[in-house]
Amino acid sequence: MGMKERLCQDCKNPLPLTARYNARFCSDCIRRHRREAMKAWRDKNRQRLTMEDLEEYYYYKEHGICVRCHTNSATPGYTTCETCREKIMEKKKKA
Ligand SMILES: [Zn+2]
Ligand SMILES: [Zn+2]
Repeated sequence: MGMKERLCQDCKNPLPLTARYNARFCSDCIRRHRREAMKAWRDKNRQRLTMEDLEEYYYYKEHGICVRCHTNSATPGYTTCETCREKIMEKKKKA
């Protein structure tokens, strides 16, 4: 009865004999885990971009520009232009 073959906890492939005695994942999975961690980090940073989007919203609002299409001037008392509000109303009617 030899040493029990160790398997990667993730993909279940046998670990190479050269793997450290406490290794739980194969090198492919370790690489993938690192990639996933990078992706999670990028997703977190994207949330910071949403804050910038919010600043953009206030920029257009303060300058009387439609916050939806960024081209037409907003109707006084509104953050959107007439065209966009019509589109929003149409969507609401359909919903
Ligand atoms: Zn693996
Ligand atoms: Zn508009």
